[in-house]
Amino acid sequence: MRIETDPLVCENCGEVRHDDIETITDVPQLDPETYAVGPGTTDVYVCAGCKNVLGVK
Ligand SMILES: [Zn+2]
Repeated sequence: MRIETDPLVCENCGEVRHDDIETITDVPQLDPETYAVGPGTTDVYVCAGCKNVLGVK
């Protein structure tokens, strides 16, 4: 997923302009199967309006 170029849609707000995206850095990465917190961190993109998570780097 390329957050810089792909159109994003928030399920609460509809289409989200890239100006309306907030980036939260250094979020602990989760293992998708066990949900254990991994050793690394990642960046998460959230809607600035309602804080809905739109994507993960
Ligand atoms: Zn939203």
